[in-house]
Amino acid sequence: MNADLHCHSNVSDGFFPPAQVAQRAHAGGVTLWSLTDHDEIGGQAQARETAEALGMCYVSGVEISVTWAERTVHVVGLGIEPGCAALLEGLRATRDGRTARAESIGKALEAMGIPGAYEGALRYVSNPDLVSRTHFARFLVDNGYAKSAADVFDRLIGEGNPGFVPHRWAALADAMSWIKAAGGVAVIAHPGRYRYTPLQFDALFAEFIDLGGLAIEVVTGSHTPDQYREYANVARRFGFEASRGSDFHAPGEGRVELGALPPLPAGLKPVWERWL
Ligand code: AMP
Ligand code: MN
Ligand code: MN
Ligand code: MN
Repeated sequence: MNADLHCHSNVSDGFFPPAQVAQRAHAGGVTLWSLTDHDEIGGQAQARETAEALGMCYVSGVEISVTWAERTVHVVGLGIEPGCAALLEGLRATRDGRTARAESIGKALEAMGIPGAYEGALRYVSNPDLVSRTHFARFLVDNGYAKSAADVFDRLIGEGNPGFVPHRWAALADAMSWIKAAGGVAVIAHPGRYRYTPLQFDALFAEFIDLGGLAIEVVTGSHTPDQYREYANVARRFGFEASRGSDFHAPGEGRVELGALPPLPAGLKPVWERWL
């Protein structure tokens, strides 16, 4: 079983259309796959159709942007019913602020001596409702303002940089209610990326469990091998099921290709067993 339950298409901030992401997953050896675009499920039908034609098992997915304790947390919803009205409406509301935020990022970059970044980022966008900082990163790298996406987030538009524009995403309780309404399983994405204190992490996990959360990502393209072990321990301590996903966006942008991560550490319960 090679499960890859987190990646992106050009329906959000990935590079390839859903059908091509499916082909890449299949070529990478993935047997159980989920496309989890940010705040948008417009790619699900194409992803499922292509995956099933290639003989992969498909699980519907989404990655919802949430604000918790003034910071952004991503919650992946797996096994969701894509026609669910509450989910569709919640995602639409979550996407709503993205364009105004992107204009503000453009103005902040202009104040830093980088003109035309908003218009520049838009040239990389396929879905006009979904401008992401990834699109800014592609524009900034391609135009010589930074040497890599990581460099863009370290120096220009990441938290703590002058080009960072704070934004209020969905509330955790709301995101959880949409996932539950759609019959899905909620998974905390790449917990190792959040800059919370240990006390805040405990509070986040406790609240997530109270709201019906079941799983966390342990093996992800956003974690180091040390973090696989660290979050395997967190999963054991809180009784979470464990997920695995590359978070693939585009060749050369992240650390791993689809299907290329190591297996889950021993002794964890894989979240995907329910779909086998
Ligand atoms: P947004 O939802 O518009 O805030 O954009 C967040 C996206 O930016 C994430 O989903 C990643 O694709 C990308 N991202 C965030 N941090 C980094 C980083 N340090 N290096 C590369 N990409 C990043
Ligand atoms: Mn992304
Ligand atoms: Mn994420
Ligand atoms: Mn992601």
